[in-house]
Formats: sequence, C-alpha cells, structure tokens
Amino acid sequence: MNSIEQQIKETLQQIPFSDNGGNVLDAEVVYSLELSGETANVMLVIGKEYQSIREETIKKIEAGLKTVDGISDVTMKVVGSKSEIETQQKQNAGANPAPPEQANYLQEYENVILIASGKGGVGKSTVAINLALALKEMGKKVSVLDADVYGPSIPIMLGKRNEPLQVVGQQVKPLNQYGIDFMSVGNMVKEDQALIWRGPMAHQVIQQMLRDAAWPGGDYMIIDLPPGTGDVQLSVAQMTEATGAVIVCTPQDVALLDARKAIAMFNKVNIPVLGMIENMSAFVCPKCGAETPIFAKGGTERESTDQNIAYIGGIPIEMDIRLGSDNGDPIVHASPNSASAKVFKEIAVRLDQIVTEAN
Ligand code: ADP
Repeated sequence: MNSIEQQIKETLQQIPFSDNGGNVLDAEVVYSLELSGETANVMLVIGKEYQSIREETIKKIEAGLKTVDGISDVTMKVVGSKSEIETQQKQNAGANPAPPEQANYLQEYENVILIASGKGGVGKSTVAINLALALKEMGKKVSVLDADVYGPSIPIMLGKRNEPLQVVGQQVKPLNQYGIDFMSVGNMVKEDQALIWRGPMAHQVIQQMLRDAAWPGGDYMIIDLPPGTGDVQLSVAQMTEATGAVIVCTPQDVALLDARKAIAMFNKVNIPVLGMIENMSAFVCPKCGAETPIFAKGGTERESTDQNIAYIGGIPIEMDIRLGSDNGDPIVHASPNSASAKVFKEIAVRLDQIVTEAN
C-alpha cells in the first residue's frame, strides 16, 4: 500500500480542473490539507471564474479523499482567492497571535542531530549518510530522516530508489538499508514530483514523518535538512527537541557566507550548533598523492574558530566518495578501510564526544 501522502497526491492529481488538462493539485485549488486523526481538513481556493465547476469540484475532492485509506471524514473551507486566506491569517495573527506549534517527536532517540548547510550541493547528504554509517560502525543504533523534501537524495545514496514506504495500521514504516532505518519523501512520491511541495504541504509531510512513523528509536536520529534557512528547518526545530545541528560547508567564501546565515538561524531557534565539517576540503591525486586545495582548504576551520564553534573535521574531494553516493553504496559501507571512510569515522567519533559532553 502507498503512504497516505502519496495516496492523497495521486487522488488529487486525478481530479480534473480547467480545460487544459490540469488537476486540482497542480492548479493549486487545494491550498492546504491537514490530517487530524481520520479527518482531512481541507482549504480550497476556487476563483469566481470557475463558478460553473465549483460544486462539482468540491464534491469530487471530498469523495476522492474519502477513498484514501486512513481518511474517513473531510471538512472543507472554500474561498475565492489566496489573498483572502492571507488577509484572514494576518487579521487572526494581529488579534490573537498563534503560538508556533510545539511538539516533541522522536523522543525514542537519545540524540537528534540536524545536518544543515547554507548552500545546496556542498555534500550535506553525503556527509549525513556516511556519518550515520560510521556511527553505526561504532555500535550505535542509528536512523536517518531525509527532511530535504525539495531534493531528497537519501534513497539514491542508500540504493533504495523507487522503493515505496509501507503503511502498517496508521503508521508509516521506515525502510532499512545497511543497518540504518530511514525515511524520505523520495520514497513517497515519484522522483520528478518531489519538487512540487509547497510550504504548508512540506510542513505536513515533515510532521507525518515525525509523528506518524514507526521509528524504532536508538542512539542517533540523523536528520538531513534542506539547504538554507527555510520553513522545513523551522518545522523540524518546532517539532523535535534536537540535540544540535552540524553545519556542512565547502571552504570557499560564498559557501561560508551562507553557512553563517544557517548558524544565525539555529541560534535564533535555540538549537546548539555542535560543530562544522568542511567537505571537499582538498583533492588528493589518486596517482601521485599530491594534495590540491580546489576550494581553498581551511576556510571552514577558520570560520568555526571565528564563530566559537567546534571544527569537527575535513573530508577530501574524491571520486570514490561521489561514486559511493551516486551508486547507492556510500564509501563508509562500500570501502570501510579506505582513507576517506576513516576520515568519516574520525568525524563520527569526534561528534559522539561532542554530543556526550553536551548531554
Ligand atoms: P547536498 O546534500 O549538499 O546537496 P550531496 O551530498 O547531494 O550535496 O552532494 C552533491 C554531489 O557531490 C553528489 O554527486 C555527491 O556524490 C558529490 N560529493 C559530495 N561530497 C563529495 C566528496 N567529498 N567528494 C566527491 N564528491 C562528493
């Protein structure tokens, strides 16, 4: 059976809207959808120009959602434009500011570590997965949550691309690979669809992966955040009591500048920054062993000193690291005795020390 999110998306995508082949999801008719037990609370936006198909569309959405396993009731609110909702939200906020939703999911884990980066493409997911495997090698029980809903890459890195998540009872069951339990939006939707999550839906999917998932618990939950300082970071910060964040960065100034913003964001939401890791630190020639600092090695360490944050370690840029990630067998698992796997293991030991000192 598909996950509840996937069933909802597939159902909504089958409901037509407009005459050019669109559907209610892509046409943004469904502004938000929130599950409360078995009730789906839906907010729809249907403009005046669609008056002729308004009632029919509402009925189809209600009937469609009721066919989804786990939904028995649907409540609907229909407005004429997005700005109506925004005005209403602003008025509500002014009159009675809503407290941010606070929850404390993942309590079954000793430590919840957020892996973050200022920029995309710096190797955050590569570091998250190899770090998780290195902690597992140390005898820790480790799970990984891929919270990068806009570009989930953990399923590819763990060789579990296109493997759907299963729903058991009301809970989504994490997948397991190389001894790591993990969950990703990449296993909920088709790969080319992951990018369409909008703010409220991204929040919901994170909430469901935290709240409605049968996580086994253990020593470490490693959460791979999207790059930057967006809504998902705040959702995760609000819904977990994270032990702390680790910032992955390449050494050059542009990446460091964005990393500084990520650090400022964690400070704002009171999540300790446990340390920084420099990825793609230097290129070591596999033929002659000469080291070339492609991105100017050492920038992250200097930045961490400036910010009074621990420097956890530096990872070289290396063909085998890329191949491991891209081929679904990360280097710490594929070549545990390689020089790079050893670097990841040293970083895992250092992080474990930092976490023990912080607890
Ligand atoms: P992010 O999560 O920051 O977007 P990824 O972990 O997806 O970045 O890495 C982006 C690309 O860079 C991937 O193809 C990955 O295999 C590669 N990569 C990451 N770290 C290294 C490294 N140290 N050496 C070589 N390739 C790397």
